[in-house]
Amino acid sequence: MAKKHPLDCSHGRRPVMVAATHCPCAESDPHVIARRSTSDGKHVLLWQDGSLTWALGEAIKGFAFPRTTEQARLALAAGRLVLGEVCLWDAMDVPDLVSAARWAAARHGTPGDLRARMKAVRERRSTDRDGGAL
Ligand SMILES: [Zn+2]
Repeated sequence: MAKKHPLDCSHGRRPVMVAATHCPCAESDPHVIARRSTSDGKHVLLWQDGSLTWALGEAIKGFAFPRTTEQARLALAAGRLVLGEVCLWDAMDVPDLVSAARWAAARHGTPGDLRARMKAVRERRSTDRDGGAL
């Protein structure tokens, strides 16, 4: 019987081995600690070690599974930033959002830093597409 997680009630299992990490809920097996939806209805799951996956456990492009405690700490920070913003974006935007969140988390950034990074990435991409220089 699944215990209710202190951060969220959405438990799930992922069929891959991950580094052992300590979770405040004391569950030792890999488990989902939070789940949010994109604006187009795709579920994004944050795991106890900071991994982010789609609903069926597929890795999200641009997200590396953490292997060390420090990587997990950074991944959890990035994952929380992603989940705080993901409802504003479509699934196709999530890899960019993950990249921007990892950038912001590495700098102890805020959601505002994440949004500024996303805006910069979008503007650069738009310029590229229109034939402008980087
Ligand atoms: Zn937990």
